[in-house]
Amino acid sequence: MTTKRDYYKILDVPRNATEAEIKKAYRRLAMKYHPDRNPNDKEAEEKFKEVKEAYEVLTDPEKRAAYDQFGHAGVEAAARGGRPGGFGPGDAFADIFGDVFGDIFGGGRRARTQVFRGADLRYELELDLEQAVFGHTVEIKVPKLVECDSCNGTGAAKGSAPVTCDTCGGSGQVRIAQGFFQLQQTCPRCRGVGTIIRNPCDRCHGQGRVHRTKKLSVKVPAGVDTGDRIRLTGEGEAGRNGGPPGDLYVEITVREHPIFERDGEHLSCELPISFATAALGGTLTVPTLDGEVTIKIPPETQSGRVFRLREKGVKPVRGGQRGDLFCRVVVETPVNLTAEQRELIRKLDESLKRESGKHAPRATGFLEGVKRFFSSGSA
Ligand SMILES: [Zn+2]
Ligand SMILES: [Zn+2]
Repeated sequence: MTTKRDYYKILDVPRNATEAEIKKAYRRLAMKYHPDRNPNDKEAEEKFKEVKEAYEVLTDPEKRAAYDQFGHAGVEAAARGGRPGGFGPGDAFADIFGDVFGDIFGGGRRARTQVFRGADLRYELELDLEQAVFGHTVEIKVPKLVECDSCNGTGAAKGSAPVTCDTCGGSGQVRIAQGFFQLQQTCPRCRGVGTIIRNPCDRCHGQGRVHRTKKLSVKVPAGVDTGDRIRLTGEGEAGRNGGPPGDLYVEITVREHPIFERDGEHLSCELPISFATAALGGTLTVPTLDGEVTIKIPPETQSGRVFRLREKGVKPVRGGQRGDLFCRVVVETPVNLTAEQRELIRKLDESLKRESGKHAPRATGFLEGVKRFFSSGSA
């Protein structure tokens, strides 16, 4: 087993962090290391994977409990379809520790054919901001192992059936006497399944499952954000030996938007306005996700002023009020000036300077601060 870093350290959260805290830490780090932002950066890619894995485990209550109790071994068992923390039959976790706990928990193993739950699958789905905000139904193609329909998952050729393993009598376990002890071990002949296929199905070669790409329609609810997961129950890989299928987790990543930045339920954007509009006021057309709206810019508007458009943000997927859109004014300096325009600005500047302090409240305040700073420093 490779050495892995502690999941809590990876996300830089305390061990008692809430799901919201974990989610917040994940969003920050996922954005930082996302491959789109770090093209051809192997280290960032590794970090991204690490962060993602830590997030997946710590936001799944079962996996987190297994991790807290058993460390990485507990989680890897869970990833193979077992139920971490339990020692029931058919459990990958029990298989790993079978040799250790076999005796102690020996009574818990049932003398019947073992079934194996199919693995959970993960599908990464990228959405545009609009799709994430308003919801979206999307067709995805998932390559996975499905039950072989030629043998109905049994693995045995048509007209035949798996037969009981005569080494273990179908229990999947054998007892071996070793000195004073009797050890219970997974049957080496049937590998714990309890049955043997004499005449394998030629379609799946006795595996009972075949690779297939399945088309699924996924309904993404409105308001999802990067890091959200949609679980499609039973759409993971087929189980083995009659075991239930795993689940499919569709993981959402929201692409960056050219205009809007998202922070939870709120959106923000920059609003470039001309020097003249800033000084004299005017109306401005502002884009929102619901279409354009017109806002009034009051005269003498400074750069950095924020206009709040209520309920033009995102309605959170878990319910609650729709967020707002914050537009931050950026006064644009005119470029590519002609000689005439330069002259006009020079004249304007002269006129403004005639009454010093009156027209530039910020600069005046700044200069006074500078004076105070130097006089107190020299004293
Ligand atoms: Zn056997
Ligand atoms: Zn088959």
